Amino acid sequence: MSRLVVVSNRVPSTSPAKSEAGGLAVALQAALNETGGLWFGWSGKVVEPPAPAPTVTQCDRFTLATLDLARPDYEGYYNGFANRTLWPLLHSRLDLTSFDAAFFQSYQQVNALFAARLTPLLTPDDAVWVHDYHLIPLGEELRRAGLDNPLGFYLHIPFPSPEVMMALPWHRELAKALCAYDLIGFQTRRDLQNFRDFMQREMHGAIDGDGNLQVFGRTLVANAFPIGIDADKFAAMAGNAEPQEPRPSEHARRHRQIIGVDRLDYTKGLVERFRAFEALIETHPEYHGRVCLTQVAAPSREHVPEYLGIRAELEKIAGGINGRFAELDWTPIHYINRSFGQKQLTGLYRNSEIGLVTPLRDGMNLVAKEYVASQDPENPGVLVLSQFAGAAEQLLGALIVNPYDIQSVAKVLHSALAMPVAERRARWRPMMASLCREDIGHWRDSFLRALFAARQPRRIYHLVPERRAVGLSDIARPDMARPDIGQSDNRVGVISELRKAR
Ligand code: UDP
Repeated sequence: MSRLVVVSNRVPSTSPAKSEAGGLAVALQAALNETGGLWFGWSGKVVEPPAPAPTVTQCDRFTLATLDLARPDYEGYYNGFANRTLWPLLHSRLDLTSFDAAFFQSYQQVNALFAARLTPLLTPDDAVWVHDYHLIPLGEELRRAGLDNPLGFYLHIPFPSPEVMMALPWHRELAKALCAYDLIGFQTRRDLQNFRDFMQREMHGAIDGDGNLQVFGRTLVANAFPIGIDADKFAAMAGNAEPQEPRPSEHARRHRQIIGVDRLDYTKGLVERFRAFEALIETHPEYHGRVCLTQVAAPSREHVPEYLGIRAELEKIAGGINGRFAELDWTPIHYINRSFGQKQLTGLYRNSEIGLVTPLRDGMNLVAKEYVASQDPENPGVLVLSQFAGAAEQLLGALIVNPYDIQSVAKVLHSALAMPVAERRARWRPMMASLCREDIGHWRDSFLRALFAARQPRRIYHLVPERRAVGLSDIARPDMARPDIGQSDNRVGVISELRKAR
């Protein structure tokens, strides 16, 4: 029986104290359990010297294998190339991107180390799914070690325009490394188009008659697979009467709430968001004493210098706005610099009339989806969403804004606060339906189906049409196109395909 092997920089926690796994971890673990699979990644520990072999733990019905990193590798690969080069570059922030050859060297070395530690754990029947920008060269390293298995890569963050990619001195190395995979998945059609433009215009690739990319002597499939959430779970958590925690404060109960929930990251547009809220209360005195912005900003990457600056700036702006407008019984911005569990977040989402999600650039933005899924169907709130979030391609009932245009975001907030319930319901229902249809399980299954299809050359279904699920029978008989089949059928199909592959 074939196994699924998932590789990511960090692996899910096995500690009972941290038992609240995210949707992605749950979805992948379900597939891993079905196939007795393997999840491989960094333990999160920096150790001198790291052990020569991975630590292997049996979890449920799958195996977890982790490696530790030495301090210089952690600094160069993780804090350096991943967080100070690729993260800002792929979010189109060239002004914040470090171009340091030592970081790149460390990134390549750690990817080679991942491959060296993973290779002995693999069998010829495994399907390997590599996640995210930390591990782009891993596929190439595995191929170099002789691996001929189906190899997929999913990029969770945006792929920028070719001009931005070309600013990276090592763009060719990364492009070539990506071509070791059979399938590359992106969050949105925009990312997919940027990738194709980059490969065609700058790397002399070509799209063949089947829609596959021919480049660097290889043929690969690239497509968009927008990640989903477990919408039913969020709806159930939010619908559970009064959430125990956090109990809305007396202050929150007395005021109309706007909610923002983000990691404290410069890509999230928090400065512009605070300024837009300030513009709202500046131009609409009728909201004084009546409307609050609660902003959860979960601490993130505090060892990276660029993150310290944004934290200090936000504290200053929130303090300035509160100092200027607050009354004895009203604080306009409730700024919380800590993280909450997802149950708590659903309570916050449900109690807020507006979900304000205004990143300057974001691969998908799951908070936008979680806000929608947590609403009361009879009295849903309004999602105000940046045009630069990947979620804007799917959440068509949101009010779409340009986060840089502060005055217009303020105007949209005013319209959202005034929106009648009938319009709120009409906007929310189709969004919720699409979240339930295209949930996290759908995302996982679509990717795995496409990975198996990509390994079978000369099949007509290489490029999965937008939002069309391909059933197992499509894979078995590519000449017989089939309409959508139910998700539960699909899941069984993918798992059994994993079982009988190769
Ligand atoms: N999140 C959380 N607690 C917090 C803040 C965020 O659990 O205090 C979760 C949130 O529910 C979401 C994820 O972190 O699932 C953030 O994902 P998103 O795609 O919005 O942004 P990212 O952090 O991946 O850039």
